[in-house]
Amino acid sequence: MCICVFQARPNPIHKFLAMYVTKPRLFFDHALRNRFAVPSFNVCNLEIARGVITAAEAEDAPVILQTYFGDLYHGGFNVLPQLLRLLADQASVPVLVHQDHPDCDEMILRTLRAGYYSVMYDGGHLPLEENIKGAAYIVEIAHGMGAAVEAELGQFGGEGQAGRVEKASPDEAKRLVEESGIDTLAVSVGSVHGQSSRLELPLLEEIAEVAPVPLVLHGGSGIHPDDVRKATSMNVVKINIGADIVRAWMNGLKEGELLESGHEPPHQVMLRHASVKVTEVARTKLALMGASHRAKPLRTKLDEATADLPARSAAPVTV
Ligand SMILES: [Zn+2]
Repeated sequence: MCICVFQARPNPIHKFLAMYVTKPRLFFDHALRNRFAVPSFNVCNLEIARGVITAAEAEDAPVILQTYFGDLYHGGFNVLPQLLRLLADQASVPVLVHQDHPDCDEMILRTLRAGYYSVMYDGGHLPLEENIKGAAYIVEIAHGMGAAVEAELGQFGGEGQAGRVEKASPDEAKRLVEESGIDTLAVSVGSVHGQSSRLELPLLEEIAEVAPVPLVLHGGSGIHPDDVRKATSMNVVKINIGADIVRAWMNGLKEGELLESGHEPPHQVMLRHASVKVTEVARTKLALMGASHRAKPLRTKLDEATADLPARSAAPVTV
């Protein structure tokens, strides 16, 4: 496939957007070295995104806003990425915007062109060779635009993955990292999309020892808090939170509908109440993962660095 139509350089406007993170490897490396994880919250509209950023500012924590393919279709391909960028730029804490679970490669390319600096290659369901090949293809493009790539090994099950759980293997993790050049790796070690879970910590530790990149967990809403804390000492730097944020938002809307609005427009009272509920849940996740009070040193590092950490170099892949 010809990819020459894509502009292989960052949009110059990004240098004026201070808290919109454009150095993703530096962002992840800082979390790795300081042994904390950053929750990556699924957002699809203004109020949820604002609720999450308000939480991060209250905790003085870096944060990740992520959109899966359904969010982008809901929020509008030409609207939601711009909205998130504007909100991030006005935040007092570093905000990284990430593309989560694309439904096709073209979606990844479009989010890169829309200014995302972190994207996911969703190949956990593929045979290893195909997963490596597909991830390496996206790495080649994303690195040319300064973005980081997350690949997936195994299946997290639950919603979106047909309920099928497949654990990641350390040997395959090592190969996927070394042969594709990815920057972060999501590993299935017990967490399940939208369900309560306990992690298989010895497996996570084994993977951390052989896979030389920051690690990611999906299905973060249901992971036992003790396991979340332990995972941050095993190279996990990003934990996806979808279900708990959606639940907070939905319950907030229901409660907000019943509130006395006085002279205020009732729909605004309802939306604000739901956004506050999102903020409350987001704050507990930020604190649990050790991200609270971490924004300032990271912000300084991001401001002072003239460039991102060098891109990992991908080994040649036979296409
Ligand atoms: Zn996921």
